[in-house]
Amino acid sequence: MNIIDGKTVHPTGDSERFIVDPATGDEIARVRDSSDRDVAAAVSAASAAFDGWSRRTPANRHALLHRLADLLEQHSEEFLKLEVANVGKPIAAFREEFGDCVDGIRLGAAAGRNLTTPAATEYLEGVTSAFRREPIGVVGAITPWNYPLLQAIAKIIPALAVGNTMVIKPSELTPLSTVRFVELANEVLPPGVLNVVIGDGTGTGAALTRNPAVGIVSFTGSVVGGQAVALSAALGLRKAIMELGGNAPAVVFADADVPRAASLLAASGLFNAGQECMASSRLLIHQSVRDEFVEALLAEIGAVRLGSTFDEATTLGPLISQKQLDRAVGFLDRLPSSAQILCGGSRADRGGYFLEPTVVTGLGHEDEIIQNEVFAPILTVQTFSDDDEALTLANGTEYGLSASVWSSNSGRTSRFARDLKAGMVWINEHLKFGPDCAVNGFGASGFGIENGLLGATEFTRLKHVLTSQH
Ligand code: NAD
Repeated sequence: MNIIDGKTVHPTGDSERFIVDPATGDEIARVRDSSDRDVAAAVSAASAAFDGWSRRTPANRHALLHRLADLLEQHSEEFLKLEVANVGKPIAAFREEFGDCVDGIRLGAAAGRNLTTPAATEYLEGVTSAFRREPIGVVGAITPWNYPLLQAIAKIIPALAVGNTMVIKPSELTPLSTVRFVELANEVLPPGVLNVVIGDGTGTGAALTRNPAVGIVSFTGSVVGGQAVALSAALGLRKAIMELGGNAPAVVFADADVPRAASLLAASGLFNAGQECMASSRLLIHQSVRDEFVEALLAEIGAVRLGSTFDEATTLGPLISQKQLDRAVGFLDRLPSSAQILCGGSRADRGGYFLEPTVVTGLGHEDEIIQNEVFAPILTVQTFSDDDEALTLANGTEYGLSASVWSSNSGRTSRFARDLKAGMVWINEHLKFGPDCAVNGFGASGFGIENGLLGATEFTRLKHVLTSQH
């Protein structure tokens, strides 16, 4: 279902698709894609709502969005069931993520009250400069399947808090929680402020990004999807925020707390079944502690519990689809002869799209499993002999979303914090993350900031007003 101008309406596109529980492969819903006409209707509703919404006070928008946080909290059980079934997240993990969803609303809701500009003063003689931060207009938001509700909230709340209106298109694989969330939001927001259209990327998504009434596109997804969206935004001379893929290196030195590093890197590499743009998928270990690290890593991975996503004890869920599972297995099938699989390496012997947690070593830097974002519970282990080699390996892919360095030498960690080409660098940590944490991709990981006040500022444009004193 779409929600346009406050009303629930049937999409009118040609294709119908099944929504599947990835833990079982069972169909849980059947939906129709949106047509170009549906997208145009949603954008026009958002355009019509813009003047009224943007002229409300930030305090008023804040209050309404805060009510939405309360409403979401009251529906926690419903969202738990929806997201676990549609995305295949283990229920205990999603319970934590749900807390971030509610907190993300409360944080973002206040963004309009906290915007900053340069000081108003007479930069030119006889003229007073003042700066305004204004909303841009209609935001076209496009989200992926790995954190459907969290990603939707990360875009919707700051964009609306600073006065924009929005049309959001969730992933065609996982639309259910976004549609329900937009439905709840429409209980507190004026009609047209927040609209949702469901459908695929190249049809519905592309219709949204090329609509001339969309003022800014906020996209989270793959590099290939991002290239298409960035091109479409460029042709319309629209601003675009691109949160794309990653392939995070974790550099572990001999002077690190090796058991702690192995434990946290196992957890952050397998988080969300490795379908996490900042997962510690590339482990770069100093050669002198490689065996100690690998032994501790394998022990941690041995304790992982793969199973039903509604079982509270499950820690590893399935991949999102048969396609993603086949893609991950493809990387393993094509490993070079030098590679060794230290654990896992196969589909799990059960229904759904599960892959055993896998560790691969014996790889070269140019191997495809090192150079590409695999997006699966697969960790690679490579060794290095000195700082320069570690840095070269860490920086040696097209991505630049996040990285971590593990060492007790503060001079070394601060050099790495400076030299790692990534928008987020952890020191003796990995994947500590919450709604306050601004993300800014380098290289093929995108551009533009998401999360926190800096992220909210992306949804504004600066106006400089110069007033003569005569
Ligand atoms: P994807 O690019 O296939 O799809 C993402 C969204 O874009 C979907 O809604 C899809 O329908 C839409 N889309 C695809 N092609 C489009 C087009 N031509 N025009 C308009 N819309 C289009 O990505 P995915 O497989 O759903 O998500 C996984 C990817 O997302 C991974 O690469 C992951 O790293 C990335 N990701 C990045 C971040 C970040 O903050 N940088 C966060 C989460 C996920």
